[in-house]
Amino acid sequence: MKRFGFGMMRLPMLNGEVDTAQVCQMVDEFLAAGFTYFDTAHGYLDGKSELAVRDCLTSRYPRESYVLANKLSAGMFKTREEVLPFFEEQLKCCGVDYFDYYLLHAMSAERYDFYREVGAFELVPQLKREGRVRHFGMSFHDKAEVLDRILSEQPELEFVQLQFNYLDYDDPVVESRKCYEVCVKHGKRVAVMEPVKGGALAELPADAGAILDALGGGSHASYAVRFAEGFENVYVVLSGMSTLGQLRDNVAAMSDFKPLDERELAAVMQVAAALRGKGAIPCTACRYCTSGCPQKINIPAFFSCFNARRMFGKPQSLERYAELCKSGAGPADCIACGQCEDACPQHLKVRELLRAVTEEFRNV
Ligand code: SF4
Ligand code: SF4
Repeated sequence: MKRFGFGMMRLPMLNGEVDTAQVCQMVDEFLAAGFTYFDTAHGYLDGKSELAVRDCLTSRYPRESYVLANKLSAGMFKTREEVLPFFEEQLKCCGVDYFDYYLLHAMSAERYDFYREVGAFELVPQLKREGRVRHFGMSFHDKAEVLDRILSEQPELEFVQLQFNYLDYDDPVVESRKCYEVCVKHGKRVAVMEPVKGGALAELPADAGAILDALGGGSHASYAVRFAEGFENVYVVLSGMSTLGQLRDNVAAMSDFKPLDERELAAVMQVAAALRGKGAIPCTACRYCTSGCPQKINIPAFFSCFNARRMFGKPQSLERYAELCKSGAGPADCIACGQCEDACPQHLKVRELLRAVTEEFRNV
């Protein structure tokens, strides 16, 4: 299997619906280039990602021509009795009768208790014995010590999906490097998510971008993807692609994959240091926080405006901020209920950060 995967969580949209024609073309070009791995989840795009998988992939290609990963997502069910019906529903939505990779979604110390309570560590291995799941793993968002404990207690887990990119590599919150090292210690394969950090590393500010441009290599995104792929235990790097252009850029970089050499590695670490100095919010735009917000605040969109202004110096962020405030609730409408902070896998202090966003844009 070629080690580059299509994350179906940020698909192109048209009037609130998935742009099926564009996604079909993306799927066709991805498969034609020899890549086979697709990753979805029931909650992505409010259920529309799984349906796009069915419409653009599984109904158009033979089952053995692709590899499909899906997730058991806490928050989509409450009891043990609901796990199997949820799984059946996912198979139906995706139009398949098995998943190649099935993950316990967004594992953390807190969710570990929940997944044990609902019997996930017995039910998914059972599905595996029945041939309806080929590989059992988890996506993970917590500290390396939590990962070490879970992998010690749950040896049936075969792989771990980690947030892994050069900006988070030594980040004290995300601990990408430490988590990777724990996986190596336990002999687990690693799937990488957020190699381009929700697109942030694809559009670097001029000063940071100049460091990579001086090398005369590919796009900024391609350095980020190549960084992640250069690690031995990584079996797939997922990129949540939103346009055909992004897909072509990534496919070109990954078709002729070369790990970063020493000079390039030093350069991406220099970029990371430059970006960290600008005080951006490390939000990955996963949107786990938004559906439960009683004020319906588009939290990641406001964080993205803040980052565009702080880290990437983009003047368009002012316009975007004004548009967002006009079309719905703004950061100042937060009632500090804290739901978003419980949901956030990055453990962001969302309430405090929303106040910082309000301040940043107050006088503009
Ligand atoms: S704390 Fe604010 S932003 Fe977070 S869920 Fe509550 S109202 Fe929404
Ligand atoms: S604030 Fe947290 S939960 Fe919300 S989109 Fe950002 S990273 Fe995800």
